[in-house]
Amino acid sequence: MDVLKKNWFSESCEMWPGSTFSFEVKEELYHEKSEYQDIQVFDTISLGRVLVLDGIIQCTQKDEFSYQEMISFLPLCCHKNPEKVLIVGGGDGGVARDVSKHPKVKEVVQVEIDAKVIEVSKKYLPFMAVGFESKKLTLHVGDGFEFMKNHSNEFDVIITDSSDPIGPAVSLFQENYFALMKTALKPNGIVCSQAGTFWDSMSLVKNTLRFCKNQFPKAAYATTSVPTYPCGQIGFVIGSLDESVKFDEPITRFTLQEIKNMNLKYYNKEIHKAAFALPSFVTSEIDS
Ligand code: SAM
Repeated sequence: MDVLKKNWFSESCEMWPGSTFSFEVKEELYHEKSEYQDIQVFDTISLGRVLVLDGIIQCTQKDEFSYQEMISFLPLCCHKNPEKVLIVGGGDGGVARDVSKHPKVKEVVQVEIDAKVIEVSKKYLPFMAVGFESKKLTLHVGDGFEFMKNHSNEFDVIITDSSDPIGPAVSLFQENYFALMKTALKPNGIVCSQAGTFWDSMSLVKNTLRFCKNQFPKAAYATTSVPTYPCGQIGFVIGSLDESVKFDEPITRFTLQEIKNMNLKYYNKEIHKAAFALPSFVTSEIDS
């Protein structure tokens, strides 16, 4: 809890020193340490339910759809036939929920390291954990990095919905993880990884993109807005084995009716294109 104001939670993390995001708590619904991390779930005054791991906000009921839809549909809509998808992390179930909506996706495999996050999400965050009920999904509990070592030529798309590079997620931000994902992909496969905010974590953005570029013939950084993440912005590094891919021109372009039918609240073909348009200071930094 915030030391200054009772009933307020303030996020604190070494990755963005000197500023913080706070929210007013109605009730702390859960707080325990799992084998891997400290897990908290809050009911809040203005954000609905909030999941916090090791003091860092992972998702809020108010704005989680922006992140989940973008990390899912950017890579899925850039692939001609994304039949088999691997999700690494994603213990809240939100990415499984959204990936399962894509009509071309037939099979979803997910590997999440912390069974406790899955259990807690099922109990307190059903609007995301509904993803675990998908008939397309096979769920494994384990380390995504280790899992990747044992798979080759298997997935069309790999989505890494991991927490920030602290604790169990450190290995998912290294170049050898991108090399393992490359091996686990089928020809023309695509990866998409959470890659931090350019406002406060430029070196993370640059390094993750560099690792991806070193392994994939095509790579880019795409951005979305999530008000409850540091600085309200987060991005994804996307890499493709298909050299002809144009990331900002989705192959699958949903009509408004299809978007409504899938209950997508953020993603559409226009926002897909816009996600790859970056501020000038970001392009100069990542090109340097
Ligand atoms: N959207 C969130 C964000 O950007 O902060 C991420 C949400 S999701 C809850 C992150 C999940 O990644 C957590 O449940 C965590 O347990 C999982 N995770 C971290 N390291 C992992 C690893 N090495 N293998 C598999 N899952 C991992």
